[in-house]
Formats: sequence, structure tokens, C-alpha cells
Amino acid sequence: MAALNLPYEGKASNAVLAQLDDARLLRQLAYINGKWVAGNDDIAVTNPADDHVLGYVTSLKKSQVDKAINAAHKAFVPWRALSAEQRATKLMSWHDLLLENREDLARLMVLEQGKALNDARGEIDYGASFIRWFAEEARRAYGETIPSHIPNAQLATLREPIGVAALITPWNFPNAMITRKAAAALAIGCTVIVKPANETPFSALALAELAERAGIPAGVFNVVTGDAPMIAATLCASDKVKALSFTGSTRVGKILLEQCADTVKKCSMELGGNAPFIVLPDMDIHEAANAAIDAKFQTSGQDCLAANRIFVPREYHDEFVAAFAAGMQKLRVGNGMQKGVDLGPLISRQAVEKAQKLVDDALEKGATLLAGKSPQSLNSNFFHPVLLTQVTPDMAVYREENFCPVAGVIAYDNVDDLLVAANDTEYGLAAYVYGNDIRDIWKLMRGLEFGMVSVNSVKMTGHPIPFGGMKQSGLGREGSRHGFDEYSEIKYYCLGGLPTASGC
Ligand code: NAP
Repeated sequence: MAALNLPYEGKASNAVLAQLDDARLLRQLAYINGKWVAGNDDIAVTNPADDHVLGYVTSLKKSQVDKAINAAHKAFVPWRALSAEQRATKLMSWHDLLLENREDLARLMVLEQGKALNDARGEIDYGASFIRWFAEEARRAYGETIPSHIPNAQLATLREPIGVAALITPWNFPNAMITRKAAAALAIGCTVIVKPANETPFSALALAELAERAGIPAGVFNVVTGDAPMIAATLCASDKVKALSFTGSTRVGKILLEQCADTVKKCSMELGGNAPFIVLPDMDIHEAANAAIDAKFQTSGQDCLAANRIFVPREYHDEFVAAFAAGMQKLRVGNGMQKGVDLGPLISRQAVEKAQKLVDDALEKGATLLAGKSPQSLNSNFFHPVLLTQVTPDMAVYREENFCPVAGVIAYDNVDDLLVAANDTEYGLAAYVYGNDIRDIWKLMRGLEFGMVSVNSVKMTGHPIPFGGMKQSGLGREGSRHGFDEYSEIKYYCLGGLPTASGC
């Protein structure tokens, strides 16, 4: 184990340090203006698999959050002045360092978040892919020329970085939810202040450590930790912060939107989901059941894209639930560090209690528990997958974002009724359709009020696609060529009084 020189060295668990090849990736202080900064208090970070304390993250004072804002504001001028090529080179160094340290970053993520090690490795690759994508896109952040309606004038647009961007992120994807935002913001010339979830700050702070090693200048990438409402209110109230990008619950997203109104900030919101998974009558039922299992249980169901409501034709209902139950029983629940584990723990005891409440509510209102355990033991953060049938719209499991490994199956009679039922939610993030008849598929693709519709594929996300939701699932898009929109302004200019062009 490498010799450490960390301010909280004595407080970091040896169990964590023993997992890392490079112990300096475990950072416990905030990162402001290129310096590691201690606040006035510590917050314990625990391993959801066993509740052991992994270490402590510092809790900043308001004045220190203000310092981060001032640092990012000052660093904006020289950072935006770099050429796109120069910014892209630094981002690619950061990208390469993520991949060189993939194993350590993945282990750190499993320890604080709980997901299976292979899923964590996949998230590091996914997170790094956004940095590469936006480093490349920075070179192509074109404006446009506009045929003029004004005599002797040249009309055109430029894409300009908006300024300091605040990025507030959740615990379920502690790496990629940061890079998907930060890479776009940094590449176009913004500076950022990241506020990660208190459950998973170490993944964010490791990103800061690697940003520093990549030569990203002081003040350009900052990470602030501590009291979420205070930090968010400070960022939202500041005139110097020009954009807020939030990923998290719809409830908190609404609070932040209100707080940003005063300074008319540009806001992008990646919020909750309540995804329908639709099986059409001409689909191979076993293939559909296996796909539904994948779409439901990744990250133990703690995924905004998780299939919350599984719609199955009534005539194939029993066959489907038998196939689903058989596949579900094969899933292994356990500590994410162990080989062969599919589902790690839920993030906290409250998450387990919420999952149990969803099951109890559904059973009281007439659902049937076809597979899985209930009541679950509440003495740990583990929750075994559960399959409920006869799920109806009055049940919380149908209405709310489940965020746990509880699958609900609903029988339907025809595609028109199904479409109404699938859209019967305030959310509109993602929907899955499995089937063959192109007319049914097209009807659903056009009729589903969701930002992302995936047909015959569970995997739908990645750096080239515009990720985002409709309705109360959010505002704006991340990734793809649209990802810059959240961090830039289109500046139009009219250059008048020009000489008339003479013919050749
Ligand atoms: P959350 O409770 O809304 O928290 C998200 C972030 O907001 C965290 O950094 C949290 O900090 C902070 N926060 C919490 N309460 C706050 C408040 N009152 N004021 C200001 N900030 C506050 O969400 P979560 O439980 O971490 O994540 C799960 C949610 O994220 C789900 O709804 C999921 O669907 C959504 N999500 C959406 C996407 C997407 O792309 N659409 C992707 C992933 C997750 P602390 O942790 O320090 O409290």
C-alpha cells in the first residue's frame, strides 16, 4: 500500500485503502481552485453492503462554497480563451487517466455505492466515453452563416460558453452523471462546480484528483461537499453561476428550478422516470422476459431507466410471468465485490423500507406476489427481487418511481388501451417496446410520451444519443451533439455596412 499524506488519513478505513492500487485516489476533502480544502465538519461515508464507515468527507461552510464560485468565475476567462484544440487535449488526458485507473475507480464505486464490480467497471467506461465524445465535439462546435435579408450585411452565429456551471448529481451513477455534464461544459469553455451526493462523494473526488493530474487548471473543475440544501441554495442564488445542471429526483429538481428563477439561470434537469416495458403479442415471450429482467434489475432497480411497469398481452400473461419468475430466481444478490453477484445492496435502510412499503401497498390493494420474498428482512440493505402481478393504477408501485428491485406486471387487451395506460404517468423519461409488427411499433414509437423509446433493445444509452426526458422527467438533453446546448449561448451577429460584393 502506498504511503499516504491525506489530511484524514487516520480516519480512512484500511479496508478501503487495501482495495486500491493508488491510495491517493481516495480523497476526503473538497477540491476548490486546485486545492484540497477542509470544511468545519465531517460526514461519514458508509459501505451499503455492510454499513461500515469507509471514510469521511468534509462538510464545507457557505463562505467556502462562495470561494468555489469566485474561483470558477475567475478561471472562466482564461479557460474559454484556450482554443478548442487545447481544451480537448486536456480532456483527453483526463479521459486516459480514468481508463488507466479504471479498476481503482470501479472498486471505490462498489464500496460507496454497492453495485456489482462489473457494472462499476462498465460505468467507468461509460463515464470516460463522454469525455472523449465532448473533447472531439469541441472541435466541431460550429456556428452558422445566415443568408442576409439586410442589404450589405453579413449574418452569422457563434456558440459561446455560458460561464460557470453548477452540476448537482445523484448517487446511483456516481461517475458517469458527473462526466456526462462536466465533459460537455468544460469542452465548450465553461468552468464547473460539482456537488456530488453525500452517499458517493469519493467517486467525484477521485475525478478531481485525476483532473488535477491531467493538467486541468485550478478553478476549472471544482468539487464541493457537505450540506446539500445550503450548497445548492448558494449556487442557485449566485449571479456568477450561469447554468445549473441537475440529475436527481423530480422533487428536488422542482426546488432547484424555483431557486434559479431569481437569477434566470439556464437549467437542465435529468429527473425521475417510470418506464413502461411493453411486450407486443407477436414477440417471443421468453426473449421478452429476459430483456425485461435486464431492464428492471440493473443497479438493483435503482436506475432512472428501470422498467417500472411491465405490460403484457393478457393471453400471454401466465407464460410471461413464469419465464420472468424463472429468470429472476437466477439473479444473485450479494456484496458487489463478490464474483457472480448481479444485484448489490440498496443504497440505504430507507431505500429498503420504501421498497417494502411498495410491496405491502400493492398486496393490500389486490396484487399477487408471484416470486420473491415478502416481508423482507429489514436488518440489512439487501432486498431480494420481487415479482408482483395484477398491478393496478391505484398502487404506488404503478404510480411512483420504484427505484428498487420490485417488478410489476400488468395485463392488457389491445394496443390502444395499452398506449393510454403507458402514458398515464407524470414521468416521461424512457420506454421499452418488444415486438415485431411494424405498425404497432410505429404507433407506440410516435404515441409514447417519453424522451427515449427503445425498440427490441435494453441498451439504449451512450455518448452519441440525446439523453433526456419529457414531462416531469426533465428539461434538456445530455450527450450527443445537443449536449453543448445546456452550457452555451447562440450569439447572433449582424455585420452591416459592408461593401457590395463585386462580381468575379
Ligand atoms: P435526490 O435526492 O434528488 O438527490 C440528488 C442530488 O441532490 C444529490 O446531490 C443530493 O445531495 C441533492 N439534494 C438532495 N436534497 C436536496 C435539496 N433539498 N436541495 C438541494 N439539493 C438536494 O436524488 P437521488 O436519490 O440522489 O437520486 C435518485 C434520483 O435521481 C431518482 O429520481 C432518479 O430517477 C434520478 N436520476 C435521474 C437520471 C436521469 O438522467 N434522468 C439519472 C440518474 C438518476 P445529498 O445526497 O447530499 O443529499
